[in-house]
Amino acid sequence: MINDPPQAEYDYIIIGAGSAGCILAERLSASGEFTVLLLEAGGTDNHPWFKMPMGYGKLYYNPRYNWMYYTTPQVQLDHRNLYVPRGKVRGGSGAINAMIYVRGAAQDFEDWATATGDSGWAYDSVLPYFKKLENHWNPNTQWHGQAGKIHVSSLRSGMHPVCNSFLAACRELGYHENADFNGAQLEGFGVYDVNIDKGIRDSSSRAYLQPALKRANLMVLTHSLVQQIVVDEQKRAIAVKVTTGRTSRTCTARKEILLCAGAVDSPKLLELSGIGDGAHLQNLGIPVVKHLPQVGERLQDHLCASYYYKTNVPTLNEPFNSLIQQAKMGLQYVLFKNGPLALSVNQTGGFFKTQPSLSQPNIQLYFNPLSYTIPKDGKVAIKTDPYPGVLLAVAACRPTSRGRVHAVSTDHTVAPAINPNYLSTDKDIEDALAGSHLMRQIVASPRLQQVITEETIPSTQMQTDEQMLEFFRANSGSIYHLCGSCAMGKTEADSVVDSQLRVHGVQGLRVVDASVFPNVTSGNTNAPVMMLAERAADLILKARTAAS
Ligand SMILES: Cc1cc2nc3c(=O)[nH]c(=O)nc-3n(C[C@H](O)[C@H](O)[C@H](O)COP(=O)(O)OP(=O)(O)OC[C@H]3O[C@@H](n4cnc5c(N)ncnc54)[C@H](O)[C@@H]3O)c2cc1C
Repeated sequence: MINDPPQAEYDYIIIGAGSAGCILAERLSASGEFTVLLLEAGGTDNHPWFKMPMGYGKLYYNPRYNWMYYTTPQVQLDHRNLYVPRGKVRGGSGAINAMIYVRGAAQDFEDWATATGDSGWAYDSVLPYFKKLENHWNPNTQWHGQAGKIHVSSLRSGMHPVCNSFLAACRELGYHENADFNGAQLEGFGVYDVNIDKGIRDSSSRAYLQPALKRANLMVLTHSLVQQIVVDEQKRAIAVKVTTGRTSRTCTARKEILLCAGAVDSPKLLELSGIGDGAHLQNLGIPVVKHLPQVGERLQDHLCASYYYKTNVPTLNEPFNSLIQQAKMGLQYVLFKNGPLALSVNQTGGFFKTQPSLSQPNIQLYFNPLSYTIPKDGKVAIKTDPYPGVLLAVAACRPTSRGRVHAVSTDHTVAPAINPNYLSTDKDIEDALAGSHLMRQIVASPRLQQVITEETIPSTQMQTDEQMLEFFRANSGSIYHLCGSCAMGKTEADSVVDSQLRVHGVQGLRVVDASVFPNVTSGNTNAPVMMLAERAADLILKARTAAS
């Protein structure tokens, strides 16, 4: 890796070293044939909090590594501004996330294929890319890869014993037990897979970028904020303007610029570069390079609400509240890379249909072996409750609410206006209620009633649909799966990029990150982003071969 000073010209320039950007950097530089520049606004992910899975709590409100965005006031959620963390570090949001590994439902990708008119995004076509990226614990090669770079482990061996009560409750109620959410079907309850390799978070930074850093043809510049993509008169993206510390420079791309800044910053950067809705750009005083009205539109997210419970059996609250126990867990982690600090807090859960007639699961649940208060002031880390407790969280799998994210200033350091427009459709309201009832049904099962002594929040006094919805509106939050703001599609009228991820009407520019999802997947979004980056690398390299 060359670190400084950079040359002025590269074959490929990648903006954003997040979940997608790190994979592209590795794949495009692998042959040694091309020079690649990877630009990242944040710093490196060397701090131990990035390695230790429970370091999650220390990164959640950490302005050094996190953009710490907020939404605009959400009309359907009591006009609250919801917190939307995003990774600002090598590894991006994949370096600060909760590490759950879920591909999504096969139907999600059939929907991508329909939206793009390209069967290359159908499940059968993307499955080989999921397998390619995985080093999966499950040896079933029909569904899993073992030779990939991202380690996928199961929490089965280390999960907290209280999680067994949740699994037993679901079993007791007759729900389908799913031994593999990433196998033949998504539906059912079970134990989550995670991106953890022998007790260490396995982000695309660690798994893909780290080993590639020694390549002479790959340059990674951290603390480098891209402010604009330069497009020439032939409508070809040719360069980026970037500021590293106090130094501003323009770097030129001989072949392509790959925008991987995520679902919030990719549309903002396109707009700052004159690519977006003409009227909006003119209002901001930005010269219109390409009128592309869908830039920033169609933003989606999963909205989540948690119910909290006191238990009569130990949970993770006690060790996290005791200094002596913390020291023991720390030592256990340092010496053996196991114990509670080596795990994700989202250990069990599943995907449920709240009506048998539904063709797809509509609800995802998380059962966590701890309960906590998320601070509202953003100044302190997440704090576990001072008594044994657990939480159940619910999110609709396939929300239909769509919002938008747009630049509000020509100053590239100003955050865009993020409006996911949560809960703005009847379907999403129905799912919020159905999911809340599902949680109550599972908690009421004899098996969970043996260990749960009280619903602390919202409390069993809250019973009617009206009250449940009121609670949802007042307490739900993002589960950080923002996507869709530069969606793939067929034409300029319905999308920002085509099925090859090329920005409509601009040569030499692709978007490769969660923003291109035509629809949010039914589960957590990191696995599909990494699959997308693997496929994008193939598309880019094949296009190069065809051109030469
Ligand atoms: C707190 C949290 C928990 C989550 N938990 C899970 C989970 O358990 N499982 C799961 O599957 N998903 C989870 N997610 C979601 C998942 O991590 C994201 O969907 C995924 O990482 C998005 O990848 P991306 O490549 O689109 O963007 P990112 O990974 O966010 O990468 C974008 C990168 O671009 C950089 N960047 C932005 N603007 C610029 C600029 N102007 N110049 C230079 N660089 C720039 C950013 O700093 C960042 O590094 C979570 C997300 C968060 C934030």
